[in-house]
Amino acid sequence: MSVNEFDLIIVGAGPAGCTTALNLAGSSLKVAIVDKAELPAEKVCGDALSGTALNVIKRLPGNCFEEFLELEPKTPSWGIRFAAPNGELLDVPFVLDKTPETPPPGYICKRKIFDGFLQQKVKEVTPFSMTGKFQVKQILREKEFFILKGEKEDLRCRMIIGADGVHSTVGKILAGHSLNHKQYSLGVRAYFTGIRDLHPQNFIELHFLEDLLPGYLWIFPMANGLANVGLGILFEKMKAAPDSLSAMLQQIILSHPSLSARFKGAGMTGKIEAHGLPLGPDSKAISGDGFVLAGDAASLVDPFTGEGIGNAMVSGEIAAGMIMEAFAANDVSAGFLRQYDERMRKRLGRELKTSHRIQELCSHPSLFNLVVKKANRNIEMKEMFTKMYTSQDVRDQLKSPGFYLKILFG
Ligand SMILES: Cc1cc2nc3c(=O)[nH]c(=O)nc-3n(C[C@H](O)[C@H](O)[C@H](O)COP(=O)(O)OP(=O)(O)OC[C@H]3O[C@@H](n4cnc5c(N)ncnc54)[C@H](O)[C@@H]3O)c2cc1C
Repeated sequence: MSVNEFDLIIVGAGPAGCTTALNLAGSSLKVAIVDKAELPAEKVCGDALSGTALNVIKRLPGNCFEEFLELEPKTPSWGIRFAAPNGELLDVPFVLDKTPETPPPGYICKRKIFDGFLQQKVKEVTPFSMTGKFQVKQILREKEFFILKGEKEDLRCRMIIGADGVHSTVGKILAGHSLNHKQYSLGVRAYFTGIRDLHPQNFIELHFLEDLLPGYLWIFPMANGLANVGLGILFEKMKAAPDSLSAMLQQIILSHPSLSARFKGAGMTGKIEAHGLPLGPDSKAISGDGFVLAGDAASLVDPFTGEGIGNAMVSGEIAAGMIMEAFAANDVSAGFLRQYDERMRKRLGRELKTSHRIQELCSHPSLFNLVVKKANRNIEMKEMFTKMYTSQDVRDQLKSPGFYLKILFG
């Protein structure tokens, strides 16, 4: 094999790409990872790492989890504070019966730090090459090889992982994908210091303001008095909005009856930045002849919570297993790789469908207000929201009409 020839090229060194690489650490494959950014790079994100992400990190090789626990700065978070459209708050801890030994169930960590950590682990644990500032613009086919055209050099490989995010070039070129605007959200985020009344246990805050539904404004507390603040809104809804998303964020901070007081004296560090969220579930094929797509490139963002890091990492694990099987069978054909779509549907399909249903229900402010009101008065129901974070069966109850009838008449 020549220097520029690989078994596999992973396009994108975010959570999906790095998790794929780390899960291939023990294989004998010759792998290259390329990313268009100079690594590690800043990313527009809420920076929240959920239990799904933490569970994948626990399974990564090379003492990843132990080293992740030492990673600084990051902030442990113990729950979620929901603000209903009418302003009523509902605090939902991530764990019931917390003891001093209970490990934090979630963290908030700047993406440059978190992605940089994963990239560093790939360098330590695998012999793979990782190249920043390599933007894939064109992919050509030459017999059983792909040729990735770079500015300075071309790379050849038998298989490609498209882990290149929401506007995936691999997805566009090899799968003919385009954005599904119905399942697409826009987000902006900024960092602030000096916001008042953050939760003492760093609960992340989701404010379901009526104009944003089913989207929300978030405030995520971070280390050193910093907070990640942003808005997420469905693309279809944004089309009709009179202002830009940045203007909406600034307007809410200045004039919202309960939020503006908390931002008095707060300062923004840096600027407001925007990025898109490809929401699941999506029926598009996420594999084909010689390639699979992972993470945002496969539209795996949870449509209710907006979380995508955990699912991106889960897809990286499943993609790595699929790749090893494909090379062992010497078969990277579309027919063989279709098993990846099936495995992904089995692993995340139900969860994404439930979240999609919950997202639809969240468009009704009066229903949202009612659920929060009842949950604040009913300890069992409040505990059910906590259990929702660990149990898919409990989550499923939220999409059943019977649940809402019980709330109305219970
Ligand atoms: C405003 C906002 C807030 C969010 N908040 C959260 C949150 O709090 N928690 C959460 O879990 N998720 C959140 N998400 C979603 C999360 O950011 C993504 O789901 C996650 O980054 C997906 O990981 P990935 O590896 O698939 O893609 P990415 O992290 O986007 O990585 C893709 C990589 O591919 C590279 N790349 C792209 N094109 C090319 C190319 N042509 N050639 C070479 N390299 C390329 C990019 O530089 C990038 O490094 C948020 C998203 C947004 C927009």
